[in-house]
Amino acid sequence: MAKQYAVIGMGRFGTSVASELYEMGYEVLGIDTNEDKIQDAVDFVTHAVTADSTDDNALKALGIRNFDVVVVAIGADIQASILTTLILKELGVKKIVVKAQNELHGKVLTKIGADKVVYPERDMGIRVAHNLISPNILDYIELSPEYSMIEIVANHKMVGKTLQETDIRKKYGCTVMAIKRGEDINISPLANDRIDQGDILVVIGKNDDLQTLEEEA
Ligand code: ATP
Repeated sequence: MAKQYAVIGMGRFGTSVASELYEMGYEVLGIDTNEDKIQDAVDFVTHAVTADSTDDNALKALGIRNFDVVVVAIGADIQASILTTLILKELGVKKIVVKAQNELHGKVLTKIGADKVVYPERDMGIRVAHNLISPNILDYIELSPEYSMIEIVANHKMVGKTLQETDIRKKYGCTVMAIKRGEDINISPLANDRIDQGDILVVIGKNDDLQTLEEEA
């Protein structure tokens, strides 16, 4: 059977997670204390329920245990977010994903058993900062504290050259993992593949090395 998801908190983040899962064909239960939010959610979740997730009986009554993944997308009310996570853990939910407001909140969530903690505002801030260094940086994903992946539009120094001639590996110590060209994506580029105007390179490397590449992009 397809996985079943529950999303608690129908703010901007929760709504985005829930509607994407629903569009991909999964069953999604949306929960919020706010009735207006639940009214709006009816269009993009399978079931929408008004309930307070800090009330363990309410969560029990919804059969929250039976969901494969529960996403806690409560933002501002840190206490409610922590309490909800704790209750979900006690009820034996298999996988709990929680949105954290800040590092300290995230640490507490991990300590009480959240399986995954996400920081959407922080991550988006990081992406925007990299895009500000150069508008050619389309995306930035941290892989570990030391390594990241960027998407970069080929600049005039790269266009017309083969991958090897760009010297990205030799000069920056970074690896081009894929080349996007319109709708096409070459996922195993070879040293003699040539870069066209408008190509987007997916590059992986050490943060310092990527920064040098970004600054020259
Ligand atoms: P976003 O940035 O995603 O819009 P936010 O960080 O502003 O969210 P809030 O608006 O504080 O976060 O919370 C998101 C939603 O969670 C709100 O719609 C709120 O009504 C709901 N919420 C808050 N506490 C609870 C609770 N105890 N049970 C269920 N829903 C709750």
